Amino acid sequence: MGGSELKYIQNAFDTNRISQYGSNIDEFENSLENYLGHNSFVTALSSGTAAIHLALRLLNVEKGDFVICQSFTFVATANPILYLKAVPVFVDSEDQTWNMCPDALEEAVKHCIQQGKKPKAIITVSLYGMPFMVDEILEISKKYEIPVIEDSAEALGSKYKNRLCGTFGDLAVISFNGNKIITTGGGGVLISKNKDLKNRALFLATQAKDSKEFYSHSELGYNYRMDNVAAGIGRGQLESLEDKVSQRRKNHDFYQELVGNNEDIDLFSAPNSDFFSNYWLNTVILKNDRSKEKLKNEFLLNNIETRYLWKPMHLQPLYKGYRFFGNNLCGTLFEAGLCLPSGSNLTDDCRTRISEVVQNKIY
Ligand SMILES: *Cc1c(COP(=O)(O)O)cnc(C)c1O
Repeated sequence: MGGSELKYIQNAFDTNRISQYGSNIDEFENSLENYLGHNSFVTALSSGTAAIHLALRLLNVEKGDFVICQSFTFVATANPILYLKAVPVFVDSEDQTWNMCPDALEEAVKHCIQQGKKPKAIITVSLYGMPFMVDEILEISKKYEIPVIEDSAEALGSKYKNRLCGTFGDLAVISFNGNKIITTGGGGVLISKNKDLKNRALFLATQAKDSKEFYSHSELGYNYRMDNVAAGIGRGQLESLEDKVSQRRKNHDFYQELVGNNEDIDLFSAPNSDFFSNYWLNTVILKNDRSKEKLKNEFLLNNIETRYLWKPMHLQPLYKGYRFFGNNLCGTLFEAGLCLPSGSNLTDDCRTRISEVVQNKIY
């Protein structure tokens, strides 16, 4: 926690507004809109997954529609496609940012068009906080007139060409789940580019109640609004965002120093200065037949938790049978990669212990 969260929670209690109305929600949305800039309209919701679901609804995705989705991601990016009984089409990563490969994307778009149906949306991800190849992907979006949903769940504070992630897509999503760079316990926001879309998201997020005196419903809605206590946590957390980004980037510097000269371990880093990552997680790829399992196990023996990379969607049992475009680069990354301890509160003592394991070379 950053320090001022309790103050905002107290405010929710003092005003007896602990549910889905209150000044914390309004102020949290306003602060995020100011922070993001670029004509962002923010709707605070109960999760990032809910935000992706609503984004697809705002684009009128329906049963049988194609939705293109980055394969290398957490399952929450793709699941809302199935909630709507639409058809996911998965796209591989490129090796610079590990995000959606523009060439594979165009191949996927052409395939869908050949099937007689232009995709309704492209869902890009900024995985582990690394911005995707924004210019290249947006060019294809423009060329084929297909809107982009930017899944920035992991990338709050990251920038491409000095512009914040979450401001590039026609719609964008940020998550405040407990594991993300800042949290509201559970929560997320949908970012749109005009007030009408924001209002439409709000309408769908609060059970789609018609503006009548009695309970009248013409459309299918959801209970997806963020509550005023969670938003209070969010307000406090936002005040410490810059600190947290800076701490995570220092973690990256630490790993750079640790494995920079290690010929068996590649640290995943920004390809050039256009890409500013919040380094939500630091990830490495093991080379020369070194074993990620052995390294993981050695960490574990020293009471240090590491995790596997996201397993790509096209390799998941749940998504068996859906089309995938690319050469399975993301599958290769999954096979060889590991996420290393990356919390904003990593101490010098932690770093020393991590260093010892890596330097012992039992992997
Ligand atoms: C966390 C995450 C989500 C989902 O957000 P929740 O708030 O947990 O629902 C979606 N996409 C990615 C890439 C994520 O990491």
